[in-house]
Amino acid sequence: MKAMVLAGIRQFAVTQVPEPGTLGEHDVLVRIRAVGVCGSDIHYYTAGRIGSQVVRFPFIIGHEAAGVVEKTGHAVTRVRPGTTIAIDPAVSCGRCDQCRAGRPHTCRELLFLGAPTQLEGCLREFVVLPEKCCYPVPESMTFEQAALVEPLAIGVYAVERSAMPPRANVAVLGVGPIGMCVLHVLRTRDVGHIYVTDKIAERLVMAGQLETAWDGNPDRVDVVREISHREPLLLDIVYECSGDPAAISQGVQLLKPGGTLVVVGIPETDEVGFSIHELRRKEITIVNIRRQCECTQKAIDLLARRAAAMDPLVTHRFALEETQAAFEMVAGYSDGVMKAVVTLP
Ligand SMILES: [Zn+2]
Ligand SMILES: [Zn+2]
Repeated sequence: MKAMVLAGIRQFAVTQVPEPGTLGEHDVLVRIRAVGVCGSDIHYYTAGRIGSQVVRFPFIIGHEAAGVVEKTGHAVTRVRPGTTIAIDPAVSCGRCDQCRAGRPHTCRELLFLGAPTQLEGCLREFVVLPEKCCYPVPESMTFEQAALVEPLAIGVYAVERSAMPPRANVAVLGVGPIGMCVLHVLRTRDVGHIYVTDKIAERLVMAGQLETAWDGNPDRVDVVREISHREPLLLDIVYECSGDPAAISQGVQLLKPGGTLVVVGIPETDEVGFSIHELRRKEITIVNIRRQCECTQKAIDLLARRAAAMDPLVTHRFALEETQAAFEMVAGYSDGVMKAVVTLP
């Protein structure tokens, strides 16, 4: 079968790789139809690593995927051949302390599709997965929409973990695809004012269409001053979705006493700094988000209701052979790209 293999830094190659072998009894053979390009994929593409997770080339990446069930192992009950599915790319062991505590996303033996040294990803014609990773989607949902389920599940999880009080005033710092997903989830909740920041004008425009109270570019304006001027009591919750260490510090300054900083973005540095006294005096709670936990079905249900509103998130489409162009576009933030999706026939 055909695969798009990451052969080196900024270097993809179309390669023939062996078809998956015989299916285990709970395995599903999936024909991949759409793969979203994620910021984490871009780290592997441009730097060959995220922190200590280092790619050994050649390697297949891609984890925001949707497809059609081609074949099933004889004990599979969740899906049938022909079912359109969204993929949960996290394969947990089901036995360790984390899995038994209801935390399969931090499973000790976690194997994540497209993560170095774990499992090869989805930029290929076929993938074999345990049935628990296969989520049927409504017939009305396109493959492209179903590929949004994975990042949307992170948005659902981030909002759930923030334990948002009714009518909370909040900020979303960074409205790339994950920040936009958080924003779409917030729009389905009883939220107060939403403040948004990003360094890219097109992203602020897209976010502004979701009835935000204010948006601004931190390179152009003092976002802490602007937001605290409009919200003198400050904010209940800040969702940091940019990965920019400066935004983490802005988040701390923007929170009211008892507020919650939700860290969703992935910084490029190993360490970030903020004022421990500001944290302490205001009793700020910091909630860290590691992908998502048990939010895939919730994301499918939400997407089914908000499909029309969320469709503009996918701004660019590429064929498998054009994967490199897709990654260059996302890495360079060019042409107003929000989510680029690679599609397979
Ligand atoms: Zn992702
Ligand atoms: Zn486990």
